[in-house]
Amino acid sequence: MENNTSNKEGLGDAAAAHREAFHQAIDKYFSKLDDSHRLVKSRSDYAALITFLCGPAKDKKVKKTKSEYYAMKNYVVMQGSLICGERAYLIAKKSYDEAKDQHGDVDLLKLKRLAAKEDLFEIIQSHHLLKHHAASRNTWNSICECYSNISRDIVNKYVSLCSCRVNQQMPSRPEGITPLLSKTFNDRGQMDLIDMQSNIYDGMTWILHYQDHLTKFSYLRPLQNKQVSTIRFFNLLN
Ligand SMILES: [Zn+2]
Repeated sequence: MENNTSNKEGLGDAAAAHREAFHQAIDKYFSKLDDSHRLVKSRSDYAALITFLCGPAKDKKVKKTKSEYYAMKNYVVMQGSLICGERAYLIAKKSYDEAKDQHGDVDLLKLKRLAAKEDLFEIIQSHHLLKHHAASRNTWNSICECYSNISRDIVNKYVSLCSCRVNQQMPSRPEGITPLLSKTFNDRGQMDLIDMQSNIYDGMTWILHYQDHLTKFSYLRPLQNKQVSTIRFFNLLN
């Protein structure tokens, strides 16, 4: 989780907690992937790649390792353009080729960069907020216009932890509370008294409503009063 704490200053508690939870989630996610599927490298790995591609890679006399040949084949460094400025960006060769038109000229606006792991939170956050807390798919579509290595899974993790989703979740049942289970009919029930004092009929002032807990079967009985003695001796089956 290198550099994860560097931007904590200035973030609200909720945003800092979101950032930390997100990094924990993606660390867990990346740990399950093998190297060939882990498309997001750290800032230092990208910096080392850029240094290599801008220097030793261009010198034919320098002997290269297998992984260095792989890097030369799969990455391109963009620097000094109107869009990049002096900062060097690493582009996947596949994405670089896709940005070429029929004449072989690269459309800089179509170039998709590679995001570093430490920058994922800020990148996804900027697109998610730009899209007004859009759902995961819309946020991801927006990101895909600029970056080539941020998967839908990673965006899902960000969005599921965002306040816009967390606040929507139903409160879970408090721990330690177990639901009441009834084994048979008439094992347990709920009783309510309906006040009919404004509409007394034949001396009956209350309606007793008893509902069986298991079957939800309801009994209704008229009562003259709601004294305990009246209700206690009341036989539902009569
Ligand atoms: Zn959101």
